[in-house]
Amino acid sequence: MTDSYDVVVIGAGPAGYVAAIRCAQLGLKTACVDKWIGPDGKPSLGGTCLNAGCIPSKALLDSTHHYYRLCHQLSSHGITAKEISIDVKTMIERKNKLVKKLTDGIKGLFNSNSISWLQGHGKLLGGMRVEISPSQSSEKPYIVQASNVILATGSRSTNLPIAKVDQNLIVDSTGALSFTEVPKRLGIIGAGVIGLELGTVWRRLGSEVTLLEAQEEFLFMVDPDIAAVARKQFEKQGLNIRLGCRVLQAHPTKKDVIVRYQDKSGEHEFVVDKLLVAAGRYPYTENLFAQETGLLLDQKGFINVDEKLRTNLPNVYAVGDVVRGPMLAHKGSEEGIVVAETIKGHFAEVNYNTIPWVIYTEPEIAWTGKTERELKASGIKYNVGTFPFAASGRAMALEETAGMVKILSDAETDLILGIHIVGSFASELIAEAVLALEYSASSEDLALTIHAHPTMSEAIHEAALAVSKRAIHKVNK
Ligand SMILES: Cc1cc2nc3c(=O)[nH]c(=O)nc-3n(C[C@H](O)[C@H](O)[C@H](O)COP(=O)(O)OP(=O)(O)OC[C@H]3O[C@@H](n4cnc5c(N)ncnc54)[C@H](O)[C@@H]3O)c2cc1C
Repeated sequence: MTDSYDVVVIGAGPAGYVAAIRCAQLGLKTACVDKWIGPDGKPSLGGTCLNAGCIPSKALLDSTHHYYRLCHQLSSHGITAKEISIDVKTMIERKNKLVKKLTDGIKGLFNSNSISWLQGHGKLLGGMRVEISPSQSSEKPYIVQASNVILATGSRSTNLPIAKVDQNLIVDSTGALSFTEVPKRLGIIGAGVIGLELGTVWRRLGSEVTLLEAQEEFLFMVDPDIAAVARKQFEKQGLNIRLGCRVLQAHPTKKDVIVRYQDKSGEHEFVVDKLLVAAGRYPYTENLFAQETGLLLDQKGFINVDEKLRTNLPNVYAVGDVVRGPMLAHKGSEEGIVVAETIKGHFAEVNYNTIPWVIYTEPEIAWTGKTERELKASGIKYNVGTFPFAASGRAMALEETAGMVKILSDAETDLILGIHIVGSFASELIAEAVLALEYSASSEDLALTIHAHPTMSEAIHEAALAVSKRAIHKVNK
């Protein structure tokens, strides 16, 4: 007999597994189909984020941060150490253990919420049926019946025909999270979030890192003042960032890769030991649905959804990287919750205006709301308040003075429109900014909020005061 469920979720990344848990909490009989196989050959929940994205990259950023600080940044505190070394194998093993712990944690949550984990490839057929082809080829495909289906199949790294990934000399982000030794020369195609984070990891351990970026502008989606501060620091750390570069060909030899690229001044060639392709990600819908279903994709290959994440098919929803919007774990999770509530008949919606973005480099970059460029383009009049960490006592004590907070507020109503931070702990500080936007705070509201002293968060308070030229610890111009 065919098993039937109130909800079948396809994909157990942060969008899918969160949707499944919330559906189960709401009393819906739920199954989640996923085909991820971990390095141990066993099925693993958590999708890209837990297995090969957010978590492993942050684990390596944290390990290398400690190493770099010990080598270069602690002598002024009177801390020195002789013969500091890094054991890459141990660092990678720690990262793998963390991934295992967290992915097993999702397994535990599925069990305690009575969610059926269907291991294998899921495909939506007509009549709200889902076909599961088990990961073990010896097992036969089977079909389950669903009242509702949530598609949460995520994204994959973009393949470039001119730089074919072999996970040996030419790698994608997954490969760069598992190098067994520090590459002497690391080339990176793409100076976006993933390229910069992984470039930082290996640069801190001594790699000569060169990033080739096609765009003329550095981090074009980031506020230009913020991007300029970050770029200066990255270059100080030795990241070689080349903009306006079109890679023509990457040719692997036996032991290295010859990279040919073009910029304004002509064609160039250089040799690296490893090449990371970090040229973006695309929505993953391979063999996800039978043509007979008539599921609509948009021109870029994302599953077409409305503001409630409904596809063109009744009772079929899609969430996460596979639909429009920023490819961020927390955006997908929030969409998953909204869909679960909607299926249960509750009102729910995603506030896309307050999604935080974070780049976990040093300094970190984080922002929420509108950039100055967006405000200018839409003709909205605004005020700006900034405050540098160089004037923060806590930042000085930490020796983390590079960076600033920038607040944009509506010139007429003072409503906060965007908050942009570059500096240490920006990933944590941004939570206050998100809350301010979520509660429709004005810069005056933040200015009236008492912030503990001495903390990095005082820079947010001072930037809010600076909107009306009342900052205390800097000269207001
Ligand atoms: C190196 C790196 C670092 C990142 N760091 C961050 C970060 O710090 N913060 C952040 O917010 N985001 C980060 N991201 C992005 C984040 O990982 C994604 O936005 C997030 O994982 C998307 O979640 P998802 O659930 O939509 O898809 P995914 O996490 O991609 O999960 C989709 C799941 O569906 C499965 N699947 C696909 N098709 C099928 C099918 N037909 N049948 C069964 N299963 C299927 C896949 O195997 C996978 O397990 C990072 C990404 C990378 C690559």
